[in-house]
Order: sequence, then C-alpha cells, then structure tokens
Amino acid sequence: MGTDVYIGHGGKELVERISGPDEAKEKVKNLKIKVPISGQISREVLDIAYGWFSPIEGFMGRADVESVCNQMKLSDGTVWPIPIVFDVSEEEISDYGIKEGDTILLTYQNQPYATLEVEEIYSFDKQKINQDVYGTTEDKHPGVKRTNAFKDKFIGGKVTLINPPKINPPFDEFFFPPKVMRKKFKEKGWERIVAHQTRNVPHTGHEWLMKHAWIATHGDMKIEKTVTGIIVNAIIGEKRKGDYIDEAIVLCQDMLRKAGYFRDDVHMTSITFWDMRYAGPREAVFHAILRTNLGLTHHMFGRDHAGVGSYYGPYDAHRIFDKIPKEDLSITPIFVTEWWFCPTCGEVTCSSLCGHKPQRFSGTVIRSIIQDGVKPTRLIFRPEVFDLVMECAEKYGFGSPFVTDEYLEKKPDRFTVPPMQG
Ligand SMILES: [Zn+2]
Repeated sequence: MGTDVYIGHGGKELVERISGPDEAKEKVKNLKIKVPISGQISREVLDIAYGWFSPIEGFMGRADVESVCNQMKLSDGTVWPIPIVFDVSEEEISDYGIKEGDTILLTYQNQPYATLEVEEIYSFDKQKINQDVYGTTEDKHPGVKRTNAFKDKFIGGKVTLINPPKINPPFDEFFFPPKVMRKKFKEKGWERIVAHQTRNVPHTGHEWLMKHAWIATHGDMKIEKTVTGIIVNAIIGEKRKGDYIDEAIVLCQDMLRKAGYFRDDVHMTSITFWDMRYAGPREAVFHAILRTNLGLTHHMFGRDHAGVGSYYGPYDAHRIFDKIPKEDLSITPIFVTEWWFCPTCGEVTCSSLCGHKPQRFSGTVIRSIIQDGVKPTRLIFRPEVFDLVMECAEKYGFGSPFVTDEYLEKKPDRFTVPPMQG
C-alpha cells in the first residue's frame, strides 16, 4: 500500500484493520462461531477498520469504558468522549457458546463481514454511561435511548474487516476512508482543511458558516494558490422522522460546489458512517477526533453542535475545548455564530454583527418553504439546491425531502456486503 505513514488522533499511526482476500477466506473457514450484527455495529466496524476511530482497534473493554465515562479519556490517557461498545445478550453468549479468548465471525446481511477477538465479556452500568456522557438519564434523550436499548453484556476486543462492503449510490462517490482522504488532500495541495459537520440541506446561512470557517482557517496564508479547503462531512446513520433524507443532504451540499458557489479546488463533500448520539459537547470532541483521523486540521463548531432539545447550552460544545489541553487534540476548533438572511441588511449576516430585529430564515422556516414547494429568493436558498431537493424527494424520498415512515421502511442499504466464497 505504499510507504506513507499517517498519524492519527493521539499521535499514533492511523489504524487499518482489513484482511486481504486470501487471508479472509482462510479465517472464514476456521471460525465456528458466527454472530449476526446490527446496522449500528456494522457501521462502527467500518469506522474501526478504516481508521476513523484511530487509535481504537476494536470495541472497548471495561477499563476503557470506565475511563471514558469518568475522564473522557481512554485508559492510556488519549482523549475519547463516547464509549464504543459491542453489545450482546446473555442468551446469545450461551446459545453461540462465546467465551473469552475466542475469535468469532461477525456476519452482516447474511455474509461474513468481520472478526472479533473476544478479549473480555462484561456488564456495565448503563445509567452511569448516560449520566457521564449525556449528562442525563432521561429516556427521551436519543443518546440515552440508544444506551438503554443495548443488550445486557458487552464484548471488548479487536476487530478486523474481512469482507469490505460496496458503498451504494449516490453515497459511493462521497466515501473516502481516512487514508484515501489524506492522499486527496496531498493531490490538492491543501495545507489547512476545515470540517463542516452537517445533517442539513444547505441554505445560504449554512453557506456562510462555511465561508466564515474558511476565512478563519485560512488566516494569514498566501492567497496566490489555494492552500485551504473546506470538507463537508455528512454523518450517515440511523435516521429520525423529520430529518432531511441522506441523499438530499450529500447531493445538495455537493451542488454548492457544482453550481460554483464554492470553487472545485476549495470544497469537497464526503461522508462518515456514524449514528448520532446527540451528546452535545462530548459529541463535538468526538467529531473532532473523527476529522483528525480524516486528516483535517480545523473543525467548525456552530451553535448547539450535536445537541438536542435543551439539554446543552448553545455554546457548551465550544467551551468543552477550553478544558482539553491543546496538545491532546491535533485539530483546531473554529467557533462560528449563526448566519441567516436578514431582510433589512438585504443579505446574509450573522448574530455577532447584525443589529436588526431578527427575522431569521432559520432551518424551521426553510423547511416550511421547502414543504410548500415555492421557490424562495436565491438570497435565502440557491435555486440549484432547491431544484435538487425537489428532485431528491421524488427520486429517493417517496415524494418527501424529509424522513417519513415509508422512507425508514424502504430506503435501500447504504452499503452491501458482497457474497464471499470460502
Ligand atoms: Zn440585519
């Protein structure tokens, strides 16, 4: 694979745990215990195997989960805010006969997918995870709900992907694992790259968030040549009703580049598979780690980053970075305020600058505009983006750009694990 050494989060070499095809076939032949896994675990296996979760090489054991909860660090001292666990029931353990020391075959979509070295089988207080990570044990918090849905035991151990899945359109053109992403940055000659985390179809306020972040990141760099890039990194995972559909998010974000609002040599759209925990400040740190591993140098954080309801203060996800020593993260946070179209200014402006009575074209207003299907002014919503949202609704959303029951039921898999002989 070449001789390039890539350093990931924690100053350690980027993790890559993927078997070659021959070695994989051999493993499948020899492993007797086969355990089917959930969609969430299948995505986290990818994140581990390709290095998004570097320096983590597998699902966490008890010491790491405990340390992550108590100190927001792995037991070796590396900053880490959210436990990554493999959950399993007592029945599965006894039915499959899983013991510590075994290596088991994980199957997904009825195909061999990965191996898990069972180093530790343990239980852990879920309410402790909830309190420490989310700051609440209320079941209506979606992260808490996710923890509470975990089965009763966890398996800690290293994971190896043996059958890399095929990413399905339209997501395939945006899937760049960390090593691939870093090669792309090198080709582009980017020295500073800022991440824009998104779960939205962009209105002009979002466009300006990115411009703000680009300007702040670019700083005093030379301008004769493009050395600063913006990466839109869309989170793809389980959806909630009312969210924008994933296809509209990635395609519309990319349309800002295709339609020239951002130059080709300055902007790129990409995806990360991850089920949002809505952990607010802790999730902001987690996103910083994901993007460090992707090779980014800066990360934009807006108002209430990765928050939900009123569990976190609007800028809690900014202030958490004050508590982390600079040398413990190798990505620089860029804090941005809210941007929106102000009718009095007659342009897009932000909460730190505009002194007019706010008549915000916020996400909620934009949603109702989209729902009505009446094309808004290009100052609020780019016409190319608007047309594409409508097209995506027809093509992928069963008539709606927002997630419906029908979408949840019928949306195709984001990736397919190919059949494997062995
Ligand atoms: Zn104004």
